[in-house]
Amino acid sequence: MAKTPQVVVVGAGIIGCAVAYELARHGARVRVIDRRAVGQGATQASAGVLAPFLSAHEGRPLVELGARSLGLFDEFVARVVEDSGAPVQYVRSGTLEVALTDAALVRLQATAKACSANGARCDLLDATGVRRVEQQLSPRIVGGLLVHSHGFVGAVELAGALQRAAGAHGVRFVSSTAAARVTRRRGGLRVELAGDSIACDRVVLAAGSWSGQVEVDGAPATPVRPVRGQILHLGWPASRLSRVIWSPECYLVPWNDGSVLAGATVEDVGFDERATVNGVQHLLAMTRDIVPEAGAAWFRAVRVGLRPGTPDELPVVGRSVSLPGLVYATGHYRNGILLAPLTAAIVARLVLEDDEDPAISAMTPTRFGAC
Ligand SMILES: Cc1cc2nc3c(=O)[nH]c(=O)nc-3n(C[C@H](O)[C@H](O)[C@H](O)COP(=O)(O)OP(=O)(O)OC[C@H]3O[C@@H](n4cnc5c(N)ncnc54)[C@H](O)[C@@H]3O)c2cc1C
Repeated sequence: MAKTPQVVVVGAGIIGCAVAYELARHGARVRVIDRRAVGQGATQASAGVLAPFLSAHEGRPLVELGARSLGLFDEFVARVVEDSGAPVQYVRSGTLEVALTDAALVRLQATAKACSANGARCDLLDATGVRRVEQQLSPRIVGGLLVHSHGFVGAVELAGALQRAAGAHGVRFVSSTAAARVTRRRGGLRVELAGDSIACDRVVLAAGSWSGQVEVDGAPATPVRPVRGQILHLGWPASRLSRVIWSPECYLVPWNDGSVLAGATVEDVGFDERATVNGVQHLLAMTRDIVPEAGAAWFRAVRVGLRPGTPDELPVVGRSVSLPGLVYATGHYRNGILLAPLTAAIVARLVLEDDEDPAISAMTPTRFGAC
């Protein structure tokens, strides 16, 4: 494409913001539309954990994608902070995955082996070792796996900083504006809104769980479904945790201000973004199972988000074959924050240079038919 392309990004979650920033940094004229304010979809509820090797033993493409994106994170955050002038909480102090049963410990041994095979430095700890590195943890914990390269990022801060950084590169954000349909027009595409439309050269569909509600000319609905997650933000009574603590039922993320995120439920309840008694009760019980002293914690907030899930739990990233010029960037399910830098880089190259990264083979929308 000879002239600077005009791109509309539908959705201002972490994915839409990261894509818009990356496109604009490389010269595109970008407009981002969202029916809400920036980052108010799944992104505002995210724990921001950056931990691709937790499922290393499963050996799925997701581990590879996550590891690659994690490798981009230092530079990505540094650049966004510089371009935005906004601080972003970003900590790489590792994760400690804990086992409460001997069977869980055997699984951690398999994960440790797979981590080493992937070049991720890790240490298997026995019960004493676990309490040496994290004194607050329950005496019921029989062992743990420390993965050193993992960490977390403040997802809301990162989305806000991306908005500012993108704005510094000329991106326009338009809120309270929902895309209904993307259609062809002579020489390009048209995004239809309620009673209005925007003409452009390219469209990136990054509407998270709602992606299937945006009609794409000639294509079936994007196969993304909402998976509710509830997460608690707690004032923390005990001494600080040093790193993310992970168990199959619950994880704890120690923020720099001393508070802790305790997440998260995984619920198939459609587009229902309400916090529930059952969800909160479950998270409290699980938190106390790991840290008995957490009974004295106090509530700061309960957040709820709808993760964009797909049938195979892999993102949907790549060109539409039904509507040339439209690129999907959605379906990031439980890893949208982790995968944001990689998705942004891949989508920007696809849109601006027509260059298809090999990683798209695992994420291509065509695996679900002629999207
Ligand atoms: C409780 C919880 C904990 C999580 N923890 C982690 C974690 O630790 N690490 C991690 O990597 N990931 C985590 N995730 C997942 C991560 O938050 C998501 O994968 C990510 O936020 C998805 O980003 P997104 O931009 O695709 O979607 P969203 O953030 O949902 O953004 C989509 C945007 O599109 C907008 N939109 C929808 N329809 C339209 C339309 N028709 N027109 C215009 N705009 C529209 C919405 O308003 C929304 O702002 C967690 C999620 C939850 C809920």
